[in-house]
Amino acid sequence: MARYKDSVCKLCRREGEKLFLKGDRCFSPKCAFEKRSYPPGLHGRQAQFRRKESDYRLQLRAKQKARRVYGVFERQFRRYFNQAQGQKGLTGENLLSILETRLDNVVYRLGLASSRAQARQLISHGHFDVNGRKTNIPSYLVKPEDAIAVREKSKKNTFFKSFAESVDGSRVPEWLELNPSELSARVVAIPAREHIDATLDEQLIVEYYSR
Ligand code: SF4
Repeated sequence: MARYKDSVCKLCRREGEKLFLKGDRCFSPKCAFEKRSYPPGLHGRQAQFRRKESDYRLQLRAKQKARRVYGVFERQFRRYFNQAQGQKGLTGENLLSILETRLDNVVYRLGLASSRAQARQLISHGHFDVNGRKTNIPSYLVKPEDAIAVREKSKKNTFFKSFAESVDGSRVPEWLELNPSELSARVVAIPAREHIDATLDEQLIVEYYSR
């Protein structure tokens, strides 16, 4: 599947805020947004003063931001939206809950990867089991009671050994339960809205697709 290959820092600059797509670098002075907080492109600096805040622009930016945070392409995002519409409850909240239960996001939330992009790579390289079976699909949607674990063979990697020493689980959301010594986890519940990034505006995303 095609992937976004340009600089991901441009995505933060386009959205006008830090999206934390690059792990540790995002917290360092090397962060591109710290140096150039205006939109990318030849006229980016001037464009930020000329922007019109139309409803459409706000809706589009809210949708693009969510897509970029979770690293999902438009077609798949649209599919998640359709899935969310078919579920009971509020479509926007359902959509965020679906995005949050992607396996790459879960691995990132557990602290077993420093970014969702790194989590995607680790999963596609076959380092994780779900319910005892090797799973190399980053878009796999976890369910309550699913067991996620670093594969026995992979635990011997220096990368995961260093994680085993440093992961403490203090930032793991309530809907996940991490066993740091075993590098394994359990999904306790479907994530509720309060467990998901508060800066995402699901209402604007719903409005975008309801035009
Ligand atoms: Fe965004 Fe991280 Fe790049 Fe900073 S370093 S611009 S937060 S992706």
